[in-house]
Amino acid sequence: MKILVINSGSSSLKYQLIDMETESVLAKGLCERIGIANSNFVYKAHGMTIEQQTDIPDHNTAVKLVLDKLTDKEAGVISSMKEIDGVGHRVVASGEAFKQPTLVTPQAMETMEQIKDLAPLHNPAAIVGVNACLAQMPDTPMVLVFDTGFHFTMPDYAYMYAINYQHYQKYKIRRYGAHGTSHKFVAQEAAKYLGKNIEDLKIITCHLGNGSSITAVKGGKCIDTSMGFTPLAGVPMGTRSGDIDFAAAEYIAKKEGMSISDMLTYLNKQCGMLGVSGVSSDFRDLSVASDAGNDRARLALDMFCYNTKKYIGAYAAALNGVDVIVFTAGIGENDSRVREASLKDMEYLGVKLDAQKNVDCPRGTIAEIQADDSKVKILVIPTNEELVIARETMSVANLA
Ligand code: ADP
Repeated sequence: MKILVINSGSSSLKYQLIDMETESVLAKGLCERIGIANSNFVYKAHGMTIEQQTDIPDHNTAVKLVLDKLTDKEAGVISSMKEIDGVGHRVVASGEAFKQPTLVTPQAMETMEQIKDLAPLHNPAAIVGVNACLAQMPDTPMVLVFDTGFHFTMPDYAYMYAINYQHYQKYKIRRYGAHGTSHKFVAQEAAKYLGKNIEDLKIITCHLGNGSSITAVKGGKCIDTSMGFTPLAGVPMGTRSGDIDFAAAEYIAKKEGMSISDMLTYLNKQCGMLGVSGVSSDFRDLSVASDAGNDRARLALDMFCYNTKKYIGAYAAALNGVDVIVFTAGIGENDSRVREASLKDMEYLGVKLDAQKNVDCPRGTIAEIQADDSKVKILVIPTNEELVIARETMSVANLA
């Protein structure tokens, strides 16, 4: 059983072909700068990387390139496209239209068209990606897997905004969250690793990457998450402001002559770590700058860790305690200083880090970094969103 996982961006297409018997990656890579000059195709298989500068005018060409390479006599990993049993497509926003991973049908694609403006940069790209795959593999089952999916178990009092209820009913304005596949994966991995039934655990999952979100997971189900109607909310991120008083945004917009749409671009692309530090959105650059005495880089990092800690505290309250805290994604898996600062002074909650284990934490594998006398387990778990998408695809397309 082999599943192709596709993650389409407006000018990119990432892919992985996964062998579901062993859950191992047979080949993966990406097409970059689709429809822009100097497009690039990257293909990794058999422990080798092939990189080709080639014209990729559209997503159809990108999918064809991927399939040609996967079935190539020398570099390929399958003998024909027929060996691909299903295709899983990552979709950023679902609105309330899709609460589960959903089989691609003409009707589902019609609904996808209707909710395009929920994620104007991402959802249209997913539609293009699905259509490009359908053009090449019309008979292969395809499944839409939504970043929001894991969060639909939140109770109404957690997902509602205190706005006029009619606007919720009319426009479905509410908290949807994001990174759902990642939160689901690491929560399940944590339970498996600890040899516990996930039903019995209270877990706080911290997905800290370019975009960061924190989720409270009770008995395997999300009960709250830090991102909101869009991935702009929650902790401050690489270039996103995170939570902000709307009146402050309106004040800046008025003073700087920005439209609402300018303001959204500003909050999404020019704020967060980049905006505060003036140095970079990348935590590696921020650490170097902070160590060299740059006080705004120090401030940005302190703000990130303080806000992460506040969410952990809030979710410990929402969960009525916490058994496990998980760190994942680019920052969560690699930045020991962020982990340490985010968990500082939480002994009263039973959270105690082992400073040495935290620093020595190996990369690419599950690690336990709490002190021996910590009541709460603290785990670093590499995320694998593609594997979750492949698993969901198998289950929804009845391929198991
Ligand atoms: P995305 O949200 O794009 O999937 P990732 O989860 O890959 O993001 O995280 C990317 C971020 O992780 C980078 O911007 C960088 O800030 C951070 N990061 C990656 N490696 C390290 C590292 N070794 N130390 C600290 N931060 C890192």
